[in-house]
Amino acid sequence: MSFISEFNTLPLDALVKRSLSTTVDGARESLAREKRSLTDFAQLISPAAGELLEHMGRRAQTLTQQRFGKVIRLFAPLYLSNECINNCSYCGFSRDNPILRVTLSLDEMKREADALRAQGFRNLLLVAGEHPKFVANDYLRDCIARLHPEWPSISLEVGPMETAEYRPLVAAGADGLVVYQETYDRKVYADMHTAGPKRNFDWRLETPERAYAAGFRRLGISPLYGLADWRFEALSVAAHADYLLRNCWKAALTISTVRIRPCAGEFEPLTHISDRELVQLVCALRLMFPDVGLVLSTRELPKLRDGLIPLGITMISAGSHTEPGGYTGAGKENLHQTVRGKIVELASGSSEWAPQPDRATNATGQFNIADERPAAEVAKLLQRLGYEPVWKDWDAALTK
Ligand code: SF4
Repeated sequence: MSFISEFNTLPLDALVKRSLSTTVDGARESLAREKRSLTDFAQLISPAAGELLEHMGRRAQTLTQQRFGKVIRLFAPLYLSNECINNCSYCGFSRDNPILRVTLSLDEMKREADALRAQGFRNLLLVAGEHPKFVANDYLRDCIARLHPEWPSISLEVGPMETAEYRPLVAAGADGLVVYQETYDRKVYADMHTAGPKRNFDWRLETPERAYAAGFRRLGISPLYGLADWRFEALSVAAHADYLLRNCWKAALTISTVRIRPCAGEFEPLTHISDRELVQLVCALRLMFPDVGLVLSTRELPKLRDGLIPLGITMISAGSHTEPGGYTGAGKENLHQTVRGKIVELASGSSEWAPQPDRATNATGQFNIADERPAAEVAKLLQRLGYEPVWKDWDAALTK
């Protein structure tokens, strides 16, 4: 039994309809409950509940402070590689995008990690596109083993693997795995993923369970808002979280709230979730899952990030770069351009894809960041808001 069979029987369309037709009184009833069902969650993300947003915000804030204290954990993504064999329409790293690519060597990766460590980070998310040649399992294992002595917490956001393939990565020192389903709508998923192993929806959906079986003790999930109807996605991820809390209960679970950002390929979002709806979603997730970590990335503008923090967010990235070598310029010498997945000779200096000497790195990023404030500035802001910024999220010794 996996989440797939449960997911296939969920009345998601009926729940979306229920959400759209619920009344303010219905939403108020769901808000008043101690323990909430998926139907309550549908009512909390309803247009009607939008009228109760202030009330929801206060409840979410109180609950977050009761369960997590006034603490925000900080993490940094370290992009190892932007090579990818998948075509995902919404991603700058998509195979067919003619971008500048690189996979960092172990020394280059260490340089990037050292720069992040010097900023204060102790919680690292290693990110890479899916490419069996450039981002082989041995490479990932060696990266983790090299970092493990200095990094108490290492998570991965890489192509999904079999349980047996994950085990050496856990043994090397990785403790967290993040995998976004991107969209829980099978039809949209098929339209968005036109080439590569990622086309397999079920394989991706089961990834957190395989990771848990391999020993990962922090799991992160999310849709990418902007592909399918946001209420459908929110209900799906809530059902997914509920399943993982019941079945993978030794792991700490986080849910992200990521919206599509501009990237190479110039994909335009297919659907829209407004800032106000995003705020409502964060509050509803907190009310539904009092103990689940909620993650906010630098995809959102500073003003919205600062406003969301007190409402339920427990973990944020800061000062992020989405290109390999983005923190130090590491790997700049080994850039190459790929066209439809094949390496081609670099264009001449006049091409917009050619390396620009005045930039720290020229590898192409996955998407544009919206909050470019340095990590130290974000940490100071957290303190001004009365929160303690925590750079170290996890210590494996605590679980022994
Ligand atoms: S979303 Fe992931 S799998 Fe898809 S193109 Fe981007 S890096 Fe590759």
